[in-house]
Amino acid sequence: MAAFEHFKEHVDSAARLLGLSDTERQALEKPDRVLRADLSVALDDGNTETFPAYRVQFNNARGPYKGGIRFHPEADEDEVSALAAMMAVKCAVVGIPFGGAKGGVTVDPKKLSAGERDRLARAYARAFADHLGPDSDIPAPDVYTTSETMASMLDEYERLIGKSAPAMITGKPLSLGGSLGRDTATADGAIAVLEALLEDEQLDAASLSAAVQGAGNAGAHAARRLAHMGMNIVALSDSSGTLLSPEGIEVEAALAGKQAHKEFAAWGEVAGVEKVMETEAGLFVPAALEEQLTKDTVEALRAKYVLEIANGPTTPEADRALFARGATVIPDVLANAGGVTVSYFEWIQGRTGERWELNRVSAALSRTMQSAYREVADIARARSVSLRDAAYVLALGRLTDAMRARGRC
Ligand code: GLU
Repeated sequence: MAAFEHFKEHVDSAARLLGLSDTERQALEKPDRVLRADLSVALDDGNTETFPAYRVQFNNARGPYKGGIRFHPEADEDEVSALAAMMAVKCAVVGIPFGGAKGGVTVDPKKLSAGERDRLARAYARAFADHLGPDSDIPAPDVYTTSETMASMLDEYERLIGKSAPAMITGKPLSLGGSLGRDTATADGAIAVLEALLEDEQLDAASLSAAVQGAGNAGAHAARRLAHMGMNIVALSDSSGTLLSPEGIEVEAALAGKQAHKEFAAWGEVAGVEKVMETEAGLFVPAALEEQLTKDTVEALRAKYVLEIANGPTTPEADRALFARGATVIPDVLANAGGVTVSYFEWIQGRTGERWELNRVSAALSRTMQSAYREVADIARARSVSLRDAAYVLALGRLTDAMRARGRC
């Protein structure tokens, strides 16, 4: 039950700051719809396996539901609901006209072949097709799903409805109308926010060292970008272990090693996965899963700055401990909103038939992220609260405005 409770703690704290009524606060803490299905998939060996699947839709006062779908052995209803809620907050923080949603399938995708993953993605699209669409609910990639997964889902959906609908899903391959810059958007958006913060603090990037947890799409690209900014990457982990080097990891070589051998442990010498949080570094970048920084693990963390590229990597207790010790946490709902921001650009392209050049996408992404950062930082300063409280204040203000305008609260 933890994840959704954590979301509520953030909402409660911002609702107090905003002086919202109990009815308003409760309206902000309730999903609109929790959809469940059992997906039966034909395996390559001739057997059939059934996987539990979810789609949670959360608050469409500001626009259609929007959010990714993850394939993960621990995906469950509580986690998917919390992540859907965070999508509504995230879209409101960056001011894009979407509500929140998230999907999940309880499955270990590493155990499936490419054909089995394709059939699973198609089964998901069929199961929830009535609730999806460019004006109702628009999925995207999330943990362990990719542009290929989106291609399977789009193809299945279009077969069902009998017409083309490129704006029903984002994070598609370029060949099917995906947007340039979408694959690196989450990391690029986080870096744009970090740059604005470093400028505020008059800090030179090269004076910081960084520890990056996670080397999936977002973590890998973030490590690359941080290294280009001149930061020493002293720790970089994946689910097999942590690469450590006080002199700085050769990021490109490490990522190429992971690509070739699937995991860091099969390529080089690694320490335990927890080491990435215990290494001396000025910046810690969680870019893996939820609840990594807890009351216990936060004790060992030395970083002054935390850039949350993962969703929900810090528990409320750890968050309070970090604020109390003067560390600055750039919260997930701001730091990782670059992914859904470029999804919005992709959705516009899908609806209008336009093709944006990479420069246009990159400039619009930086502008959106940095202006959201400014608004959040101004609230944090004016109210002497954390950036997370400030981001929730900004988002809940926008969500309640839309809900009031519709007479929903
Ligand atoms: N899964 C990403 C997120 O958590 C992207 C969602 C989207 O593009 O809709 O923000």
